[in-house]
Amino acid sequence: MAKLDELRVQIKTDPFIDGKRCKAIASATHTSLNPADQEPIATFALAGAKDMQRAVQAARQAFDSGPWPRMATKERVKILNRFAELIQANATQLGTIEACNVGKLLKECIDHDVARASANIRFFASAVQQQGDETFFNDANFLGKKIKTISVTKRYPIGVAGLIAPWNSPLMLSTWKLGPCLATGNCCVLKPSPWALLSVLQLGELANEAGIPPGVLNIVPGDAEGGKALVTDPLVDRISFTGSVPVGKAIAQANAATRVAPISLELGGKSPTVVFADADLDFAAKGVARGIFRSQGQSCVAGSRLLLQDSVYDAFMQRLLKETESMKIGSQFDPESNIGPLITKQHLEKVEGFIATAIDAGAKLTTGGKRPDDPKLSQGNFLEPTIFEKVTTEMNIWQEEVFGPVLVVMPFGTTEEAIALANDSRFGLSSSVWTTNLERALAVANAIEAGMVWINSHFVRDLRAPFGGVKESGIGSEGGRYSLEFFTQPKMICLPYPVESC
Ligand code: NAD
Repeated sequence: MAKLDELRVQIKTDPFIDGKRCKAIASATHTSLNPADQEPIATFALAGAKDMQRAVQAARQAFDSGPWPRMATKERVKILNRFAELIQANATQLGTIEACNVGKLLKECIDHDVARASANIRFFASAVQQQGDETFFNDANFLGKKIKTISVTKRYPIGVAGLIAPWNSPLMLSTWKLGPCLATGNCCVLKPSPWALLSVLQLGELANEAGIPPGVLNIVPGDAEGGKALVTDPLVDRISFTGSVPVGKAIAQANAATRVAPISLELGGKSPTVVFADADLDFAAKGVARGIFRSQGQSCVAGSRLLLQDSVYDAFMQRLLKETESMKIGSQFDPESNIGPLITKQHLEKVEGFIATAIDAGAKLTTGGKRPDDPKLSQGNFLEPTIFEKVTTEMNIWQEEVFGPVLVVMPFGTTEEAIALANDSRFGLSSSVWTTNLERALAVANAIEAGMVWINSHFVRDLRAPFGGVKESGIGSEGGRYSLEFFTQPKMICLPYPVESC
């Protein structure tokens, strides 16, 4: 593929530390393969503890004595806006790398993921300027004298942040952390997932070109070992993690054992989609299919459990199956494709394992469940969009996050039953409710245990709103002021007045 050959030449694979590319000390390597055909894209060193230490030290020095945290906010904002522009100006290259590495559809990578990456930086550059300091006036007593006070609450950057991202939307999720972290004057080490980090690694040169000083943004391609070194490094002040529940728990333990610092954990989901009989069934069927099958179901907020009111069960299933079975599976570079390949063979096999277990447990495989027959796709990690019916709440396929194109369907009778089924999960990330009755929509949205509820929609985002989960889906929220607060530390400065009364 000509595009891939061109890309191979352009892709930078070395760690980006202190404003420059440097050879990794660690000797282990990883080769990224195009998930559509297993063609190698690039090989890079998997940074170990020493590489991570080097990156953390660069960030520490940049924070302790460099210009970034001391710069006027408006200067930082100018640089970050330039960074955002450069990301957008390189949309074709970054989007092509992302599609090739992750298997997401090219159009989605360019039009959505890269655009969002640029928007993330621009959004936080703007939001940080709205962040005001608070002032409180009070009457108090001090050493027997009546005084008046002004307490100013000012927010300061926290120092060095360790940012850890998963593989499913590397550019979008990394910049979602970078934006608020950098806008508030911090320095950081970003560790994306070895499965999909090629796009993120390219940000180094763009950061330099934008004028971000050396050491402020360090990008290190490590695996779990690199991640462990980052979260236990005493020079790191705060960890922001997005990934799976088990790794989130391990990071929380490591954090508690090494430092007293807030961490943010954005973890997995098993999100319910609730369709009531009074929904616009044609629209809802399209929405439900998109909610689960977009990005091959490899999305934390994928609507992977469908709760369907029994009076419209058959009518809705007919529509949903039509939507599902008309999806074209193919290369992420084919503009006709609706479903691309899964990230790796290993992940495909894991998803197939969930399917086999569900069949063994007695669930009814309604559609999909296997690799496509098309011989042209035989080398890729392709899987047909899959739907299971006749599941029970004890089944793995109901309880566990599959992170693939697999939907389970469960009928319900009353609104109360729907709410109980929706909440029958250790996760609580997102949910969607489909109904034309506004009162019901709001009542169900209030009762569902989730950090986010969409009504008659899915995936729609306002960057000011909180993004995060409850229960095992995480700790904390990202977005707007929630992110700005996470990356800053408030300090109260109390000034008594008039001064003679002190
Ligand atoms: P993962 O937990 O396996 O890995 C995430 C990151 O952590 C990677 O960079 C990995 O190298 C690193 N890591 C692994 N072990 C580590 C350790 N012990 N210490 C420090 N770092 C370590 O997750 P994944 O497979 O990359 O991503 C899929 C998961 O991410 C799914 O569960 C998905 O729901 C979740 N996710 C959540 C959100 C959200 O916003 N809530 C968004 C996207 C993905």
